[in-house]
Amino acid sequence: MELRIAGVTEESVVDGPGIRLVIYAQGCLQSCPGCHNPETQDLEGGTLVTLKELAEKICRNPFLDGLTFSGGEPFLQAQAFARLAQEFKPRGLTLVTYTGYTFEYLYNESRRDLSIYRLLRATDLLIDGPYLQEKRDLNLLYRGSRNQRIINVSRTLSSGNLSVDEGTSAGLRY
Ligand code: SF4
Repeated sequence: MELRIAGVTEESVVDGPGIRLVIYAQGCLQSCPGCHNPETQDLEGGTLVTLKELAEKICRNPFLDGLTFSGGEPFLQAQAFARLAQEFKPRGLTLVTYTGYTFEYLYNESRRDLSIYRLLRATDLLIDGPYLQEKRDLNLLYRGSRNQRIINVSRTLSSGNLSVDEGTSAGLRY
């Protein structure tokens, strides 16, 4: 199975808690003015890589706390991203997923699309919503604009109530 990606950052400390390997999905259907990664929007751009190649990269770093799927839009390739997540979650890596969609939209879509359900279920923290230039705020943890939320997905799904983190690193718990 392959993923179309814009790139990989092998070690990041700004895309979620701890040390994370970040995979940037290639392709996004939203055209947010001021998009931080406009080169990732083209659905035909980027590079095709196999999950095996990505898995090898992940395995090379024993110090990783987790993976971050960013974009572009990871949920446009939910099946392959979910497969990668399902391989590494049992090995103790946590998952942060960025999306331009809202949690509510993805939750509704997940009822008819099993891949979206699997990627949502595998995600520990979902950073949701499009980047809105008029709500830009450089002081936010992990986010670019104030409409975006840090959602604890497992807590949300188990309680039935949206669990939104207030945005302080101390408050982030898996
Ligand atoms: S959702 Fe993200 S990647 Fe897509 S256009 Fe908006 S800011 Fe860019």
